[in-house]
Amino acid sequence: MAQEKKIPYKIYLEESEMPKAWYNVRADMKNKPAPLLNPGTHQPMTAEELGGVFCDELVQQELDNENAYIEIPQEIRDFYKMYRPAPLVRAYCLEEKLGTPAKIYYKFEGNNTSGSHKLNSAIAQAYYAKKQGLKGVTTETGAGQWGTALSMACSYLDLDCKVYMVKVSYEQKPFRREVMRVYGASVTPSPSMETEIGRKINAEHPGTTGSLGCAISEAVEVSVKNPGYRYVLGSVLNQVLLHQSIIGLETKAALDKYDIKPDIIIGCAGGGSNLGGLISPFMGEKLRGEADYRIIAVEPASCPSFTRGVYAYDFADTGMVCPLAKMYTLGSDFIPSANHAGGLRYHGMSPILSQLYDDGLMEAVSVEQTKVFEAAEQFARVEGILPAPESSHAIRVAIDEALKCKETGEEKTIVFGLTGTGYFDMVAYEKFHDGKMDDYIPTDEELAEYRAKLPKID
Ligand SMILES: *Cc1c(COP(=O)(O)O)cnc(C)c1O
Repeated sequence: MAQEKKIPYKIYLEESEMPKAWYNVRADMKNKPAPLLNPGTHQPMTAEELGGVFCDELVQQELDNENAYIEIPQEIRDFYKMYRPAPLVRAYCLEEKLGTPAKIYYKFEGNNTSGSHKLNSAIAQAYYAKKQGLKGVTTETGAGQWGTALSMACSYLDLDCKVYMVKVSYEQKPFRREVMRVYGASVTPSPSMETEIGRKINAEHPGTTGSLGCAISEAVEVSVKNPGYRYVLGSVLNQVLLHQSIIGLETKAALDKYDIKPDIIIGCAGGGSNLGGLISPFMGEKLRGEADYRIIAVEPASCPSFTRGVYAYDFADTGMVCPLAKMYTLGSDFIPSANHAGGLRYHGMSPILSQLYDDGLMEAVSVEQTKVFEAAEQFARVEGILPAPESSHAIRVAIDEALKCKETGEEKTIVFGLTGTGYFDMVAYEKFHDGKMDDYIPTDEELAEYRAKLPKID
């Protein structure tokens, strides 16, 4: 008979053990993240200026570099209970398959209909919009995860939700679109004929299939022109990392229950929200000198913001309507090659993570997409869960680190974030299976071209 495992396959928290406050890592950072700048004046955005874009409480959270803990309102905690606590899973089956002495854990965020961690911030942003008496929110979505999460949160709170979905995804991902409509969102293919910017782009580029930058510009325009609406964003911002700290706080509480100390913490990085949320409490200990961890951000080789970008002020969107953010960036015009199927396509990175990375407090690696899908499939076959391509970047590096332990015989404890499921990514998996996926890596010359277009800020 197999020996009984001391640590259970899944560590769950009791409802009473769930975090009651988010943790704001900025409070413990010596070098604070750089402020957002007004794109016109290049001066730090004031609370008043930000209030035209975000709800008042979210503006407070965006600017708060001091308070370490911010209470999670009871209504949000109740919503979290529908799909949280998320399990922390001991990957016994994967360890066995790899033959590694490493101990691998993953925090699984795919246990809700939107299929990812994005719901953690969607409900918070929708809640504050509702509390302020707003009618609704607007946003953009590419592949659709954020739009789905936001539509779920809005329907729960009876808030209108207008989603601008990049036209090519709208046409190619009808299922995501319909899920959003189940939750009552209006989904408009972008560029549309409903906005000035959309009509302009359609006139200049007839037949265009759209881009995220264009969808952002449309969503912003609609929020500004409709009283009672605000624009919301699913990653990058300080407030989003704050909400996502629920991931790290639950992970830490689960590990603490069994006195487990991780050596390595790994997460995929698109705009940085899941990684920032997962590592926050651990980074806090590191910043306060209480513990040390290796923290690794994983990004696609085709969109390498950390590993090949520069740390500079840049536009947050292609339309150049949003505030400037200081971050690791490839330039706001950068779009990964059409062949890139693994998500994590954003040109920039969370300002908080950018500062932590610049201070040498975390590492970053980039991985090629065929290697990512190999890891995804290896994982799916032993652990059961069909991972999102984005999440599979973290799986890749967790497996690589576990295989290093196999060589050295070290029994390291590895924790990684499994951000979501990949049911809507079957076209990408199909490409992988049919050998139609290649590993395009941008050249230095290409990256230099985009870099040359960065705004000049003194
Ligand atoms: C959006 C998304 C990501 C990347 O976003 P971050 O803000 O970097 O966390 C990762 N995984 C999944 C499943 C996503 O939907």
